[in-house]
Amino acid sequence: MKVLILGGTTEASALAGALAERSIAALFSYAGRVAAPKPQPLPIRVGGFGGVAGLIAFLIEQRITHLVDVTHPFAEQMSRHAVAAAQQAGIRCLALTRPPWVPQIGDRWQQVASVQAAVDALAGPAEQILLAIGRQQLAAFAAQPQHHYLLRLVDPPEVPPPLPHHRVILDRGPFTLDGDLALLREHGIERLVCKNAGGTGAVAKLTAARQLGLPVVMIERPALPQRQEAHSVEEVLSWLCHASAPDTERGV
Ligand code: NAP
Repeated sequence: MKVLILGGTTEASALAGALAERSIAALFSYAGRVAAPKPQPLPIRVGGFGGVAGLIAFLIEQRITHLVDVTHPFAEQMSRHAVAAAQQAGIRCLALTRPPWVPQIGDRWQQVASVQAAVDALAGPAEQILLAIGRQQLAAFAAQPQHHYLLRLVDPPEVPPPLPHHRVILDRGPFTLDGDLALLREHGIERLVCKNAGGTGAVAKLTAARQLGLPVVMIERPALPQRQEAHSVEEVLSWLCHASAPDTERGV
């Protein structure tokens, strides 16, 4: 058995730890988006594979038997490639996913289907906005230049975002409720924009928004092809122990 973990999330790190503890042969793959990726107790490779064809070639060359997609719920392209490559290479593939956040009593969410829809939702007078969507799609918000955007990023942007009024703070989750309450208050934030990532590492801002009565523009997840999913590291371990032949069923 040899496992390839497609990483970049807290859950991917947890799975890496569990495989290393059990001495299960595995590689950990990062896209290479952050300057200093978190170290892992497994051999790491960094960078894209070169599309589906590149991933198939990698799976074969490295003699991977099990592919586990533990990318972020918004890493749509990588997840599509994982399903296609595993199918074509005839290897087992599983996605370790976390449930999306759901609104609770007191939440003032506006749920939108895409980043573009979030941009459109910001039409109106200038506000102080916490834009917590990572750095890759910031440019879309140039269409609403009236706002003051507070950007929370892991690394400084390589090129300044094209937002006339913005401020960058560098920080990396997991975030705390006290910290996020202080952040929202200190910057006079009037609205948040974020992706429905799910999980615990970035949920504090939503609890803080609820406590302060602030509206949230929540970008919902992209649709992905049907695939086999697990929701915990234990489920992945059990799948690894029991899965030996390529899947014949889909959409489990
Ligand atoms: P994406 O749009 O789905 O992927 C774009 C391309 O990046 C993929 O086609 C692939 O290149 C490469 N790639 C992505 N994840 C990879 C991985 N784990 N190992 C090797 N190559 C990878 O993904 P993204 O939204 O840019 O996210 C990139 C990474 O950041 C992911 O690993 C994800 O878990 C993490 N992340 C994303 C977000 C988010 O909001 N999107 C948030 C937090 C963390 P090739 O086609 O060349 O193979």
